[in-house]
Amino acid sequence: MSKIRVRFPPSPTGNLHVGNARTALFNYLFCKHNEGTFVFRIEDTDRERSRDEYIQNEIDAMKWMGIQWDEGIEIGGQHGPYKQSERMSLYQEHIQRLLDTQHAYVCFCSAEQVEMDREEARTNSLPPRYSGRCRNLPQSEVKTRIANGEPYVIRFKLPDQNDVQVTDLIRGTKFFPVSSLDDFIIVRTDGMPTYNLAVTVDDALMEITHIIRGEDHFFGNTPRQVLLYEALGYPVPIFAHMPMILGDDKTKLSKRHGAFAITEYGNMGFLPEAFVNYMAFLGWSPKTEEEFFTLDELIQRFEVTNVNTSPAIFDYEKLKWYNAHYLRQKSCEDLFKIAQEDLIAKGFLTNEKDKTFYLQALAHMKDYIVLTTDIVNYIESIDAYNGIQPDRIPEIQTPEMIELLPALIRHFSVDEKWSPDFVLNAIRNAGKESKVKGKHLWMPLRLIMTNEDQGPEIYLVIYLMGKEKVLDILKALLSKI
Ligand code: GLU
Repeated sequence: MSKIRVRFPPSPTGNLHVGNARTALFNYLFCKHNEGTFVFRIEDTDRERSRDEYIQNEIDAMKWMGIQWDEGIEIGGQHGPYKQSERMSLYQEHIQRLLDTQHAYVCFCSAEQVEMDREEARTNSLPPRYSGRCRNLPQSEVKTRIANGEPYVIRFKLPDQNDVQVTDLIRGTKFFPVSSLDDFIIVRTDGMPTYNLAVTVDDALMEITHIIRGEDHFFGNTPRQVLLYEALGYPVPIFAHMPMILGDDKTKLSKRHGAFAITEYGNMGFLPEAFVNYMAFLGWSPKTEEEFFTLDELIQRFEVTNVNTSPAIFDYEKLKWYNAHYLRQKSCEDLFKIAQEDLIAKGFLTNEKDKTFYLQALAHMKDYIVLTTDIVNYIESIDAYNGIQPDRIPEIQTPEMIELLPALIRHFSVDEKWSPDFVLNAIRNAGKESKVKGKHLWMPLRLIMTNEDQGPEIYLVIYLMGKEKVLDILKALLSKI
């Protein structure tokens, strides 16, 4: 079997988003599973909307996800250039070939004319297709009209056949009736090739064997592209059209569902390994109960034929769940490295000794961290805490607390070094003295010191707050109950 070659061709008209990232990932998994070549090219024929900054964003997102390409943008290769804007002469050549072989023709119908024809077809209950008015214009007339500066497009001439066959690894073999298509435009009035023409020429010249992309291309573009391959005499690749990704309310995926530019996820506190693991499940499943896979394991396990046809639902909470899992797998040293820069920036980590404490704190915080940003936010919220909310005070207005509070103040005030151990012992001793222990001690204490019912080890939270602040909070509370 010839070597598998896949491609990922985003248009740089925006930052790389979830849908495209999943396309890149599935191409990568399929490609590497089959020891193929991954081509990353840029479809920037839309000159108005394409921007270099979006190309950079697409590159950055691919790198963040750990998807390496073998040919393409930045690194080059034998099938370049890898930007459509640099491939115009190749499109010209192929357009000429289609004109010369009567697979394409010049059409002078204006957009208004075409719309009127469509309208008429609709009123006669016919499919609203291009009427074919310019299909058989004499060559001499075409030449004169072009010479006179009349605007024109170039249309593909549908062949005289019944069906177009599409082989799709997810959807099976499908036959599209040619009568459902019309003579589609391959060159616009401004002389630019359309997506269908350019993509087919690129895929053919880059010897792409498998095209894996979103199902939005399936009905409209794929049969047209197959016809172009056939007209140009190139082998037709095998397709795999992946299901749509929808939000959890089954509507079009958007920010409101937690779908952002891929490069944002890192800043938001997601680990690439969690993101990639979750993305792999958007339409694919290993057909077992297993949920955690590294990129290499995904490569081993991925079968494109196991991709579903029903829409995948993007579940932001599940993505967070994966992230929390991968964070728990990390050593405290690694978590510390992740948070270090932010801790310093926020004025926390002021001396080397603090590191030991933070490592200890991280070990206890691990189970409560969902995003990497939680580490610093958590420490910051401890720093900013200034006492239990008034509406929860009644919960701790018990005889035990009325005894415990002064005992805590006394034990915390002892003139000894404020350390996690000191804090722990002070709490235990105050509890003994006021005859409260277990949850009757720790739960109200947590509520007093965090206004929460759960969280990391409370003695560490208290230690982090610092002696002065802890005493202030306790004294203020004592005066209120
Ligand atoms: N530039 C197209 C897109 O981003 C590529 C579609 C294709 O894979 O053919 O939708």
